[in-house]
Amino acid sequence: MALRAVIPSVGGKLGLGLAVLLLGCGGFSDAGSSQTQEVKVKPRYSKSGYDITPLPREDVARLAARLDPEAFRVTQKAGTEPPFCGGLLHVKEPGIFVCVVCGLPLFTTDHKFDSGTGWPSFYREFDPEHVARKPDLSYGMVRTEITCARCGAHLGHVFDDGPPPTGERHCVNSAALRFYARGRELPPESQPVKTEVAYFAGGCFWGIEHYFQQGPGVLDAQSGYMQGHVDHPTYEQVCSGTTGHAETVKVTYDPKRISYRRLLQAFFDMHDPTQENRQGPDVGEQYRSGIWYVNEEQKREALAFIAELEGSGRFGKRKIVTKVEPAKTFWPAEDYHQDYIAKTGRACHVKNPW
Ligand SMILES: [Zn+2]
Repeated sequence: MALRAVIPSVGGKLGLGLAVLLLGCGGFSDAGSSQTQEVKVKPRYSKSGYDITPLPREDVARLAARLDPEAFRVTQKAGTEPPFCGGLLHVKEPGIFVCVVCGLPLFTTDHKFDSGTGWPSFYREFDPEHVARKPDLSYGMVRTEITCARCGAHLGHVFDDGPPPTGERHCVNSAALRFYARGRELPPESQPVKTEVAYFAGGCFWGIEHYFQQGPGVLDAQSGYMQGHVDHPTYEQVCSGTTGHAETVKVTYDPKRISYRRLLQAFFDMHDPTQENRQGPDVGEQYRSGIWYVNEEQKREALAFIAELEGSGRFGKRKIVTKVEPAKTFWPAEDYHQDYIAKTGRACHVKNPW
């Protein structure tokens, strides 16, 4: 097994640096645009794959200006529609209920039930991360208000008198929702993020994975093995140096929030691309520097970026030895390698590239 150099975590300092340096995002995701957006706050993604970055106030105002007066009153002024009057109370056909303001999916018919209260009622959210909760002490009552996690639209309240399995009742105004029957095409803002994938090998995958995971616009970074000739390799096999595999990190990202070029920058900031078949104290071809591209555009960008780096004189006379090859099968590493730095509180001696 190869030697791993680890230093104590400096999480607090890193966290602060991250907050200051992050190129997060600000603008409302315009799915019609292929441009990577200039960003101000760190993008957030839900487990179900949606962009739930809170929208800036001016974007919410622009979207709210298109609403009819009742939807505006309910969502922007925390209004309540009269019971038994909402248009979605009796909807039973399969489908999805999205935020009337920003289009984020909030509830589905699968979880809808007849509460007898006169308002659409659901025993759970489409995704718990899509619906925010906060205490509401108005009218002399103690209630829990629910809002859209992306745009802050008032939806209604959640109570603990619902049916199993959650025991919850999300009591929602019809005016805060828009219904799409199953099979009907959803608008771009109601669809999950269209992600892309990039693969980078930069020595020990623990630190590389850790920092890619923190990239603004990165949904997931995963450690694994790639470019070798052994299927389903184990860590021990790869460490023996006979499989041809390189420790590799698979980066799943939102191209609207971060560009492939920015990922390349981060990759070359994190490791030393002039070291052949080693990285710091880790020696062996499994620690070689590599970019495994998934399409010709990535190949072109990677080669151009390397040529640019070589021309910059940043590495002096040392040659960049990073391999650029078409991606083969990615074999995820064992569970204990995933999020290793986050789980153990250690940090590889990898520079934070953000
Ligand atoms: Zn919303």
